[in-house]
Amino acid sequence: MSGKVRVRFAPSPTGHLHVGGARTALFNWLFARNKGGTFILRIEDTDRERSTEESYRGIVDALRWLGLDWDEGPEVGGAWGPYFQSERRDGYRERAEMLTAGGKAYPCFCTAEELAERRQAMKSLGADPRYDRRCRDLEPGIVEELLSRGKPHVIRLKTSDEGVIEFTDIVHGKIAVPAEQIDDFIIVKSDGFPTYNFAAAVDDSRMEITHIIRGDDHLSNTPRQLLIYEALGARPPAFAHVPLIMGPDKARLSKRHGSTSIQQMRDEGYLPEAMVNYLALLGWSYDDSAQLFSMEELIEKFSLDRVSDKPAVFDYKKLRWMNGEYMKKRSVEDRVRLVMPHLEAAGLVKDPADGRMRDFVKRVVEVVGERLKMPQDIVELSDFFFRDEVEYDEKAAGKFLKRHYVGPAFRVLEDRLQTLHAYNEIGIEELMRGLAAEMGLKAGELIHPVRVALTGRAQSPGIFEVMALLGKEKVIERLARARRAYA
Ligand code: GLU
Repeated sequence: MSGKVRVRFAPSPTGHLHVGGARTALFNWLFARNKGGTFILRIEDTDRERSTEESYRGIVDALRWLGLDWDEGPEVGGAWGPYFQSERRDGYRERAEMLTAGGKAYPCFCTAEELAERRQAMKSLGADPRYDRRCRDLEPGIVEELLSRGKPHVIRLKTSDEGVIEFTDIVHGKIAVPAEQIDDFIIVKSDGFPTYNFAAAVDDSRMEITHIIRGDDHLSNTPRQLLIYEALGARPPAFAHVPLIMGPDKARLSKRHGSTSIQQMRDEGYLPEAMVNYLALLGWSYDDSAQLFSMEELIEKFSLDRVSDKPAVFDYKKLRWMNGEYMKKRSVEDRVRLVMPHLEAAGLVKDPADGRMRDFVKRVVEVVGERLKMPQDIVELSDFFFRDEVEYDEKAAGKFLKRHYVGPAFRVLEDRLQTLHAYNEIGIEELMRGLAAEMGLKAGELIHPVRVALTGRAQSPGIFEVMALLGKEKVIERLARARRAYA
């Protein structure tokens, strides 16, 4: 062994890449990059019925979108391949045969019905249902005969009831499981395919994996995998089981809480750098307060000893905030590219937009500024720039337009805007503040009604910027319309 860190992400291609899987992949990737090690992608597709090419594609696309490149694995190759378990069957069979020949494993011919019956009987006696090792000591002659007759069988690992199986998990510390809790479990199924525990342990040892970083839900598999390493005469890797991800209600994160598939979240407009930053903080922290980390900072700062053993809470509100932070860092051109499809889908901009419209959208994006947390927010934040007529929010109109001074104030404002030479942000602001003072109003008492008249809402980007961008003609027209409708 080279002594270098080798870690793997080992998804089963039976569905989308979810938040939990992506977090596992990220922690492995960060650990490898931090240590100058190797990050391996291994596809665990031994469940032939549930594995699909489509899932595989989706997972690989999602990893690439997140920026998690692998040094060995599908499409890039490597000296420890192949990296699809379905192509490694000979290796599992050879090792199972080796273990059987060495007296560490044995064929078991018990049928599913027999096992079910015996389990039932054990239960009714109040005992833990477990395999009774019936086939463990069959006469070699009988075994040979049954095998030669082609009697269906599985292969089981011989385990002992003596002692404890112990290991130190990097996250959870010392873990000890009484050996008697583990029966002679199956390593090769009757269809000749390895079980998950066997395939994973064989591959992890053959691929010289040094650290296994995976979800807490696999903690209970580890003692079995350790027994397999032992039987194989292989040195076990280090283990780090990262905590479960929960929804805000403390139940395991699921669709009920919101989108959990990375592909879906990408389609919903989350930026990959925000996703990565957010996922990194699910169970890991640098200190008590730091939240925003670039990929480079994460690589530099990540360590397993700062992974918590407490469940992590997935907070969609915080993710949205974080997305906004990264949106701010994107160039205006980039933001235009991101919002354009949403403006088109909402029918606010013709598809495809011409050069003039693109320039206008660019100005809109600038005016909207930091309010844009997600690309689709653009519709809600700026539709009034694109519509011919404003739709009034009745509550806002009632509160701000139905005031005695609004009619006269708007009339004067319309006149003065008409003759304003410097029709720009500064000129408009000066005019508005001057007018408010003349009429004995606070600036806000004029600004709020103007905002509702121009945007239909009580909230909008800076009103002087909005007025400048909307243009003199539209502004005067909207003021007059609002005055006639409400004041
Ligand atoms: N294929 C397993 C899973 O997706 C991998 C578990 C492991 O990392 O050992 O859960």
